[in-house]
Amino acid sequence: MTIFSKIVRGEIPSYRCAENEEFYAFLDINPVTRGHVLVIPKREVDYFFDLSDEELGRMMSFTKRVAAAIKQVFPCKKVGVAVMGLDVNHAHVHLAPLQSEMDMDFGKKKLQLPAEEMQQIAADIASAFGRQ
Ligand code: 5GP
Repeated sequence: MTIFSKIVRGEIPSYRCAENEEFYAFLDINPVTRGHVLVIPKREVDYFFDLSDEELGRMMSFTKRVAAAIKQVFPCKKVGVAVMGLDVNHAHVHLAPLQSEMDMDFGKKKLQLPAEEMQQIAADIASAFGRQ
């Protein structure tokens, strides 16, 4: 089982931002910027492009709503989207609020935010998501 499946099952804690029956959004534990969120299918699939066309469509609709919530909480030029999956073999989309391309430089030193700040960010995004 992947670490993200354990997160979905609540066996590993996460900072929950949004969810529906099929997808789950939570804060990346080592964010590139404040508001860095991962969106995953609850179903365990390794490679993003192994998702069916229909599932990809539904995932991106959900992701779009999460991005809108991030943008409300962290006013930014755009919310950036990235798919890598080199570390965790469970399909996921990275979302991060961008003021410049440096905000999505995955090679730079990651932030380590206090638990209270992570909790507050997740709560703010969840609240913005819920207001849509
Ligand atoms: P990728 O597989 O796309 O290269 O990167 C995986 C991402 O998942 C990384 O940005 C990493 O910080 C994040 N990540 C890895 N393990 C955990 C975890 O247990 N909890 C959370 N919230 N994020 C994780």
